[in-house]
This record gives sequence, structure tokens and C-alpha cells, in this order.
Amino acid sequence: MRPSLLGLGAEIVSASLTVLVPAYNEGEGLREFQRRTLAVLDALPLRTRVLYVDDGSGDDTWPVMLSLAAADARVGLLKLSRNFGKELALTAGLDHCDSDAVVILDADLQDPPELIPLFVERWQQGVDVVAGQRAERQGESWLKRVTAAGFYRLMARLAATPMPRDTGDFRLMSRRAVDAMHGLRERQRFMKGLFAWVGFRQEALVYQRAPRFAGRSKFNYWRLWNLALEGITSFSTLPLRVATYIGVLTSLAAFLFGLWIIAKTLLWGEFVAGYPSLMSVMLFLGGVQLMALGIIGEYLGRLYMESKQRPLYLVDVHAPAACLTSGPSNVVPN
Ligand code: UDP
Ligand code: MG
Repeated sequence: MRPSLLGLGAEIVSASLTVLVPAYNEGEGLREFQRRTLAVLDALPLRTRVLYVDDGSGDDTWPVMLSLAAADARVGLLKLSRNFGKELALTAGLDHCDSDAVVILDADLQDPPELIPLFVERWQQGVDVVAGQRAERQGESWLKRVTAAGFYRLMARLAATPMPRDTGDFRLMSRRAVDAMHGLRERQRFMKGLFAWVGFRQEALVYQRAPRFAGRSKFNYWRLWNLALEGITSFSTLPLRVATYIGVLTSLAAFLFGLWIIAKTLLWGEFVAGYPSLMSVMLFLGGVQLMALGIIGEYLGRLYMESKQRPLYLVDVHAPAACLTSGPSNVVPN
């Protein structure tokens, strides 16, 4: 049976929650993050832990993390051997969580830790995945908003797994959802899609996404574009089929055009003109062919990376939380 906040007895004490925080060059804001997060965890009648994942930061993130771990026994640390990117930092973190539930939080305080109790409440009521859905995007440019909206619309059409829009990685996952994630060992990872793929009881919780507390976003447009490509190719082979259809349509058009040229020559003779039309048809077909090859290449490249079977990430240091303590106000509410 699922441990319950409202229930009684030893069950309550045994429920544990880990807050998983991937961080890349977030030294500036981590202390404030820890202050706010621990204040929230203190008030939860659960055994709680924080697991920071240092994704190969180049700033003082790691020393700051060490001091944060020294300051509180609930804090565990994981340091990757280099920067692997957020998707893999999350994967590494999930692999090292053994609690009953995991909450994923960005280190920049864009996802307010104060919402954790609401997530926990839904989890206690039997929901496996409670995902934060952004009501509005403060501090983000209109371009990012427009491109994000376009991406979600495209994914909704392409992907076989429905992907809730405007949900990031901010979410709570139950043990069985986390366990299910362990089974997905693909190297080309699009976490939002994988989270959705897992299924079980999922729910969205609308929240206001705050601007960054400190530092800068690590996702520039190029990185976002690549993430979008990852999402599309990981969850749909429709682009390959589109290439086929474009090929079929252009050859059909070329065939009709050929018929027209033959008819024209038979009726009116040949005047050897047509350099512009020849050029435009040639260039168009060349372009279409290259595009189709490019699309095939995208999938082939991913197949190639997948076939190497490299480990997803490498851990440099793993310092688990010193002990599983509960917050000071760990009193069963009655
Ligand atoms: N992050 C990471 N590895 C990376 C890039 C980002 O672990 O290579 C972390 C980052 O420290 C932050 C979270 O992922 O905690 C979200 O990153 P960011 O705030 O830059 O993304 P945005 O909120 O702008 O989409
Ligand atoms: Mg952010």
C-alpha cells in the first residue's frame, strides 16, 4: 500500500522523498536554493533527502555543493566526470535515488520548491507522476515562447506518445515510475518524452514559472533546436515517411511535366529553349534529394551512436546523504 500522509503508524515514517537537482555552473544560486528547499522539506512529514548532481561544472558549483552537504546530513552529492547535459545528469541522478518518490527541481529556482507539498499530496492520493505545467513564462523572450509553442504543437502531431505541453522536467515521480525509467537506456535521450512514455497515473499541476534566481540559462537557441530534433527523432519516424511522400509527389509532378513536354513538342515542335525551367527543376530535385538524405542521415547517425553501447554517463564522485533524517517538524498531523 502507498504510504499516506493522513494514515497512521510506521507507514508514514517509512515514506521517503528525494529532491533531485541537476546543476551546471549554478554556484551562485545554490545556497539560496538549499535554504528555500530545506525550509519546505522541514515541514514535510517524510524522510527527505536532496541529491545534487554536478554536471561537470566549471565554476565553484562543486565546492559550494560540498559545503552544502557538510551543512546538512540530508544532502547527497553526485559529480559526473564531465558535462553530459541535463538529460544525462537527470538520468544519473534518478539511477542513484532509492526513495519512494523523487522530485526533480532546477537549481536556478525557476521551479518553486514551495510547490513540493502539493506534488506530494497528489502522490499520496495515488498519482504516479505529478508534472508541473507552466502557466506563463516570465523572463523568457517572445521568440522562446513562440518556438516552444510551435514545438509542442508539432510534437503533438508527430509523436505516438502524447506529450503534455509546457511541462518541463519539474515533476514528482513515484518509485515505480522511476523504476520504469531505469529500463529506458537509450543514449539519445529526450527526458520529457521518456517521462510521458512511462505512463501510469500522470497529472499536471499548473504553476507560475519564476525567472532565474542567478546566472544564465544554459539552453541557447542552438541547444534548444538540437533538443527539439532529439525529441522528434526519438519519438517519431514520420519525417522519414514525409521524405518518401515528397519524393513520390515530385516524381509524379516530374512525370506530368514530362508528358506536357512531349505533347508540346509533338504539337508545336521543338524550339530548344527552356534553360530556366531545366535549371529550376534540377535545382529543386537536387534540393529535395539532399533534404531526404539529410533526414535519413539524422536517424542513421542516432542509430550509429546507439550502436556503440557506451555508458550513458560516468560518475566522478558519489557521496550519498549521510543519513536518512526527517525534518525537525516530523510530527504526524492529526
Ligand atoms: N543543467 C545541467 N546540465 C547542462 C545544462 C543545464 O545540469 O548541461 C541544469 C541547470 O543547472 C539547471 C537546469 O539544468 O539546473 C535547467 O537549465 P537552465 O536553467 O539553463 O534551462 P532553462 O530553465 O533556461 O530551460
Ligand atoms: Mg532555468
